[in-house]
Amino acid sequence: MRILIVEDETSIANFLRDGLVEEGFAVDVADNGKQGLQLALDYLEEYDIILLDWMLPGLNGIEICRNIRKENKAVPIIFLTAKDTVDDAVFGLESGANDYIRKPFSFEELLARIRVLMRKSETGVVVFSAAHIELNIEKHSVTKNGIPVELTLKEFSLLEYFLRNKGTVCRRTRIIEKVWDLHFDYDNSVIDVYINALRKKLDEPGKPSFITTIRGVGYKIESDE
Ligand code: CA
Repeated sequence: MRILIVEDETSIANFLRDGLVEEGFAVDVADNGKQGLQLALDYLEEYDIILLDWMLPGLNGIEICRNIRKENKAVPIIFLTAKDTVDDAVFGLESGANDYIRKPFSFEELLARIRVLMRKSETGVVVFSAAHIELNIEKHSVTKNGIPVELTLKEFSLLEYFLRNKGTVCRRTRIIEKVWDLHFDYDNSVIDVYINALRKKLDEPGKPSFITTIRGVGYKIESDE
């Protein structure tokens, strides 16, 4: 899952980025309004949520939000705002944001709101499964034949992406866009390393891998039907 943060205060941006990366998200940060809008529009289909500061150099958060909404009605947007009057909050929501949170806020509170919005946008699914594998988003756990398996954050994100797209071919470029961030230097071998790790941890001995390689294109997890 990939998140865009548009925030000009470096300390807040870094705090959010580090916390969200620790939670397993791929995170991009823009420190001004123009760059924020540009990234949002360039990767609109890739972002699962956008965190938008209100007061920004270049373009303010309201303008960015309106521009994003012209292109994409669905991506959840949360305003991070120091403004604290009711009128301002209503104005923010009317511009198309889904929620707002007042600074200073705790990371836990923000994370809870992110999870609520993501659940809404994905119709409440928290458990994904295929064959002998089950992944629980809320518990952040994975089991193989009912037995817990330890995955790294990136392995977990990659498996989550595959399971969300069960039955369809996951192209390598889409995997990179969804699971890694802007700073990923395009190196195919990195994906291979993670695929191999997932296979090693989750495949059943003597059986074909649960992740099928589609040569030259990407990977696929078969649907159960
Ligand atoms: Ca600001």
